[in-house]
Order: sequence, then C-alpha cells, then structure tokens
Amino acid sequence: MSSTALDLLTRTDDPWRVDGRCNDLHGSLSHLFFADDVVSTARAKAICGRCPVARQCLETALLRREPWGVWGGELIEGGQIRPDRAPRGRPPSTPRPALVLEEVPVPPHLVGTGT
Ligand code: SF4
Repeated sequence: MSSTALDLLTRTDDPWRVDGRCNDLHGSLSHLFFADDVVSTARAKAICGRCPVARQCLETALLRREPWGVWGGELIEGGQIRPDRAPRGRPPSTPRPALVLEEVPVPPHLVGTGT
C-alpha cells in the first residue's frame, strides 16, 4: 500500500477522524480498506457499519474525489461509489447477492495501545 493511503487513514486533521473505528494511529487495518478482493472489502465495510463517523467519512471521501478504497462503508473508485466487485471466476448464471460479513472481534490482547 502506498504511504498516501496510510496517511489518509491515520491523519487526524479532520476532528471527527479520531473517532473512526479504523483509526488506530498505525494503519493496522489498511490492508482491508485498500484491498482488491471481495472478502477484505466486505470485512472493511463491516467495520464501517458500526463506525460513528461513517457519514462524515463518506461525504469527505466523495468531496476529495478519493481514488480508491472503502470509505464510510462504500467502495470508492475514481471519486465515485462503485458497486461491489464480482468475485473471481466464471460469472454465475444467476446473480449472487453482495457478500456481507459480520465483523470478527479482535481479541483484547491483540489491540494496540496507540503508543
Ligand atoms: S467509516 Fe470506515 S473508513 Fe471511515 S473512519 Fe469509519 S471505519 Fe474508517
């Protein structure tokens, strides 16, 4: 991942950003938010689904015309909300529903202290 993407996840110049669930000041979850596979994207969206600043996150990402990543619970590419990517492989004969995952809790002993 580029340092730009990491900077955006850990930057705190928007006052609401410190409350983002992805913001552990280390970019530990960046690999989920900037992934190119459907499972990681679904996991990122699950984290956003319980984020108290999801609305602000999505609005500002669209205003910035964010080039890539999951922001505010949506996959954004080229500054626009994109539908979920199709999984790899042959397209099914009948459309599959979007992949929605429950968030897997992180064991307390693995949560960083932010120091
Ligand atoms: S909505 Fe998602 S990407 Fe935005 S701050 Fe919250 S957890 Fe992070």
